[in-house]
Amino acid sequence: MKPFDKKIWLSSPTMHGDELTYINDAYTKNWMSTVGENINEAERIAAEKVGCKYAVALSCGTAALHLAVKLAGVKAGDTVFCSDMTFAATVNPVLYEKAVPVFIDTEYDTWNMDPVALEKAFELYPGAKAVVVADLYGTPAKLDEICEIAERHGAVVIEDAAESLGATYKGRQTGTFGAYNAISFNGNKIITGSSGGMLLTDDKSAAEKARKWSTQSREAAPWYQHEEIGYNYRMSNVVAGVVRGQFPYLESHIAQKKAIYERYKAAFADLPVTMNPYDAENSEPNFWLSCMLIDEEAMAKQVRSDNESCYIKEHGKTCPDEILETLAKYNAEGRPIWKPMHMQPIFRMHGFVTREGNGRGMTNAYIAGGVVDVGADIFSRGLCLPSDNKMTADEQDIIIEIIRSCFN
Ligand SMILES: *Cc1c(COP(=O)(O)O)cnc(C)c1O
Repeated sequence: MKPFDKKIWLSSPTMHGDELTYINDAYTKNWMSTVGENINEAERIAAEKVGCKYAVALSCGTAALHLAVKLAGVKAGDTVFCSDMTFAATVNPVLYEKAVPVFIDTEYDTWNMDPVALEKAFELYPGAKAVVVADLYGTPAKLDEICEIAERHGAVVIEDAAESLGATYKGRQTGTFGAYNAISFNGNKIITGSSGGMLLTDDKSAAEKARKWSTQSREAAPWYQHEEIGYNYRMSNVVAGVVRGQFPYLESHIAQKKAIYERYKAAFADLPVTMNPYDAENSEPNFWLSCMLIDEEAMAKQVRSDNESCYIKEHGKTCPDEILETLAKYNAEGRPIWKPMHMQPIFRMHGFVTREGNGRGMTNAYIAGGVVDVGADIFSRGLCLPSDNKMTADEQDIIIEIIRSCFN
C-alpha cells in the first residue's frame, strides 16, 4: 500500500456553498462586525434546532462555558465537579473564575462522567457548586442520573455539548440538560463557523446577562458606563454566516458520521476491539468521532511518559501508538483519546473521584482485583480513528486495512 495522496483527516470542515452566500451578504451590506442578520438568524436556528428558548452567539465554545460558569454563580474557591476524560476547554473556564475543579472518573458504558463516582464526590466534597458534564465524541452522558444527583445536592448543571450538537438523549437534544449549556462551531466539530460557539439556556435573564457580559458589559447610558466586568466574546457576523449556512447540513453530516462508525464497527467485528459505546436504547449520538478500544489481551506493551511514547511490538498484538504511527505513515490522521484531566501536570494537585472514592494516590490504572481508574485505562487502550465526512468508503476500506495490519 502507498500513502494517500490527499491526507485523510480526523475531522475537517465540510462546506456546501451556502456559507459563502451569507458571508457575501455580510460583506455587501457591510455588517462586518458583531451585529447583523447572520447572528440573529444563527441564534434563532440554533435555539429552534436544539429546542431551547435562548441561544447567545459567542466567539467560541470556551467563552460559552466561561459565561455558563459565571451564570451558575461559581465564585473563587468553590468546588466544581468536572468530567475527567475530556478536552481541557471543559475545565479551563472553572479556573478563569478561580474556582477549584475536582475530576469525576469515567464510566465504560458511554465514556462519560460516571454517576456512581459523582455521587461519591458529593460525599467527599459536600457543597460543590456546579457540575460540568461533557458528552464525549458526540455520545450523550447518563444525563438523567447526573442531573438527578446534582439537583439532589443543590448543584447547578452545565452541559458541555461542544462535541455532541444534534445528538439526543431520551428524545431530547444534548445542550438542553444543564441550566446553562455550551455548543461549539470550532473547525473540526460536526458543523463549523470556522470558529464560534453558543450559550444555550431557557432562562431569559441569564441569556440577557450573557449577551451583556459578552459585549463588554455596557450599561444603558449615553456613554460607556460599566458596573460589571465585561468580555469581548460576541460572535462575528461573518462567522455567523458560516454557521447559518452549515445548520441545514447538520443532519446529513450526522448521517455520514454514523455510516463511518457503522463501517468501522462491521469491519472490526472479528478483531479484539470494541468501538466507543453508547446506550442504544436511550440515546442517539451524532457520531462525531469514531473511536476504538483494544481488548486488554491484545494490547502490546506501551509506556507513555509526559511527552513520549514507547511500545514493544508483539505478534498478534498492537497498541494505540502503533496504530497512530502507522496511520500517519500512510498520510492519515488519528488521535489519542483525550488525556484525562487528573493525569495532566497542571491538575496534579486537584481531587479525582472514582467509583471507589478518592482516586488520588493510585499510581496506575490497575489495582489488584480490577481496573479502578477508568479514564487512564481508556486513554491507554483507546484511540480516535479518521472520521472525516469527506472520506469515501473506498478510502475508509484502506484505513481499515492499515489498522488490521497492526494486529498481525
Ligand atoms: C471543542 C470543545 C470545546 C471548546 O470549544 P471551542 O469552540 O473550541 O472553544 C469545549 N469542550 C469540548 C469537549 C470540546 O471538544
